[in-house]
Amino acid sequence: MEIRLKNKLLRILNQIPPLKEIMISDDDLEEKRKKIRKLLAKRLISTFDDTPEIPSLKWVLTRDAIGTFRRIISNRSETLSEFSFLKYMNDIIHEGKKNKVIKPSPDFFAELNHLLRGISGDADVYPKSIPSFLKYKGVKSARLRSASLSKMARDSEKFIDRYSCGLDDDAKRRRYNNKHRILRYFKATDFEWTNWKWQLHHAIKDADTLKNLVNLTEEEYHAVQLARKHRIPFGITPYYLSLMDYVPGKGRDNAIRAQVIPSMHYINALLEHKAHDESSLDFMLEQDTSPIEGITRRYPRIAIIKPVLTCPQICVYCQRNWEIEDIHSHSAALSKPKLDKALDWIANTPEINEVLITGGDPFLLSNEKIENLLFKLSRMKHVERIRIGSRTLVTLPQRITETLVKDVIHFHIPGKREILIVTHFEHPYEITQQSMDAVQKFRSHGIEVYNQLVYTFYNSRKFEASLLRHKLRLIGVTPYYTFSAKGKEETEDFRVPIPRLLQEQQEEARLMPGTVRTDEVVFNVPRLGKNYLRAVQHHDVISILPDGRRVYEFHPWEKKLALVDTYVYTDVSIYNYLKRLQSYGENISDYNSIWYYY
Ligand code: SF4
Repeated sequence: MEIRLKNKLLRILNQIPPLKEIMISDDDLEEKRKKIRKLLAKRLISTFDDTPEIPSLKWVLTRDAIGTFRRIISNRSETLSEFSFLKYMNDIIHEGKKNKVIKPSPDFFAELNHLLRGISGDADVYPKSIPSFLKYKGVKSARLRSASLSKMARDSEKFIDRYSCGLDDDAKRRRYNNKHRILRYFKATDFEWTNWKWQLHHAIKDADTLKNLVNLTEEEYHAVQLARKHRIPFGITPYYLSLMDYVPGKGRDNAIRAQVIPSMHYINALLEHKAHDESSLDFMLEQDTSPIEGITRRYPRIAIIKPVLTCPQICVYCQRNWEIEDIHSHSAALSKPKLDKALDWIANTPEINEVLITGGDPFLLSNEKIENLLFKLSRMKHVERIRIGSRTLVTLPQRITETLVKDVIHFHIPGKREILIVTHFEHPYEITQQSMDAVQKFRSHGIEVYNQLVYTFYNSRKFEASLLRHKLRLIGVTPYYTFSAKGKEETEDFRVPIPRLLQEQQEEARLMPGTVRTDEVVFNVPRLGKNYLRAVQHHDVISILPDGRRVYEFHPWEKKLALVDTYVYTDVSIYNYLKRLQSYGENISDYNSIWYYY
C-alpha cells in the first residue's frame, strides 16, 4: 500500500484520536473490534447523557453515525456483505507492504471521513446559529418563523426555476417547430400526427433516421447503431422525438434523451450479459415469481398480468429489458391460449382482488382486445380493482382516443369495481398539452391517474422531482411511487445512491404540500416486493467497500408476518454520483447532507 494512502487514512482517523490509537496498536483484530465497540458505546453515552447542551438534531445525527459504524464492524455484517471493513482499514495501516491490499478509492475515503465527522458531532449540516424565531414567543416568533419559511421557499424556487416544463410557452414553440420538421421529413400531415397508428408505424428505429431528425452526439449515434446491429430493442415515437431539443447541450432534454437513447455502457454491458446468460438480466427475479406464463405475483391480494411484451417505445432502463421485445415484434403479444390460461389462473385464485395489467404496454393492444380483457376480468367477482399500467400518456398520447376511453370506463363502477391508470412521467419536460388532455380524458370520467417515477441520475438534481410532482398534480396525475433505479449493471448510468432518494424525500419533497408529495419512495426488492425506504427500520447499512459503495441489508415487507430472507444490495458510490452531478454543472455543496442519510 502506498504510504500516501496509509497517511491519508490516518489523517481521517485523527478526527477521533482514541479510534486512531486502537487502529495503529498491535492488538489483534478481535481485540480492536472489542475496543472500538467500547469506545463507541462510551461516546454514545457521553453524547447523550453528559452533554445535554448539544442541539437535539445534532444528537440524532451523532447517534445514527455511531449506530452505523457499530453495525459495519459487526461480525454479522461482515458475513452478510462478505467484506470486513475493519480488517480492510487494518490492512491499509499494517499490511501494506507485506500483502497486496486493494487500493482504497477517493470514494472510500470520502465515506469514512463523513462517517467519522458524524460520530464526532462535526457533520457540518446545520448553520452555526439557531433560527431566531426559537428565541421568541407569540406573534414575534410567528413572524420570524414565517420569514424563515418564505426564505426556504425562495431558495427552493432558485433550483426549480432552472428546470423547464413542457407547458412553458417557449417549450411549446420548440415542440411546434420540432413537430413540423418531423412531419416534413415523413411528408405527413397534422392530421396524421394525431393518429396513434401513424405514430407507431413511423416510430424511429435506426440511427440514421434519428440523426436526420435530431442532432446526435457521436456516442448517441454509435450506441443506437450498435443496438440495432445486435437487435437490442430500440424505438422512439415521432411524438416523443418532438420533445427532444433539436440541438442537445442546454440540459433541458437530458432526461428525455437518456430515456430512449442508450449509452455505450448500456449496450456493452447488455451484450456481455447476453453472451453469458440472458436470464441474468432478470434482476427482479420475475421468473421466480411467475406461477404461470403471463402472471407475476409478489403480494397476497395483487397479481400482474402481462398480455403484451412490448411498448410504443423502449425505455433504456426498463426492468423487464430481458423480456421486452422490439416495438413491432409479432411475437410480443401473449397467445390467446396462454392469455386464457393466465385469466383462468386469476379466476381460480379468489384471494386476488386487484389485477395490474401491464407488460409491455397494454394500450398497444387494439380497443377490442382491451375491452375483452377487461370484460373477462370484470366477470370475476373477487377482482374489485383493475390497474392499467401504460406509458402511452407520455410517449403516445394520441392513443388515448375517445373510443378507447369509452371502452375502458364502463367497467369502472363506483362501489363495485375501480379502474385506474398508472403511468410513468419521468420529467416535467415530458408534460405537454397533449399528455394533459390524455390524462383529463380519464379523469373526467372519474378514473384516477397515478404516476410511478423511476428516480434516475437524469431527474435527480435538487428539486427536479419536486417540480415534476407539482406539475403532475396540476394536470390531474397523483404521484404514487418513486422507485430507486434497479441495481442492474447495464443501467449503472441511471442509478442514484439510496441516500439521495432519502435526502430528496426529506429536504425537497417535504417542502411541498401533502397533496403533492403523495408518493412513497421505494426500493423494489427482487422476488419479495417493495421496501419502504422512508422507514429507517426497514434497511441497514452493513458495510462500505474499497470503492466507496455502501452495502445495504433490506428487510422484506412481510418481516413481521413470515420468516423470509433479507436482501443484501450494493449501492452506487455517493462520491462518484456527486462528481457526475458536478460535471453537469451542479454545485455539490448543495448536496452536502447526503452523507448523513443511511
Ligand atoms: S414503458 Fe415500462 S415496460 Fe415499456 S419499456 Fe418503458 S419501463 Fe419497460
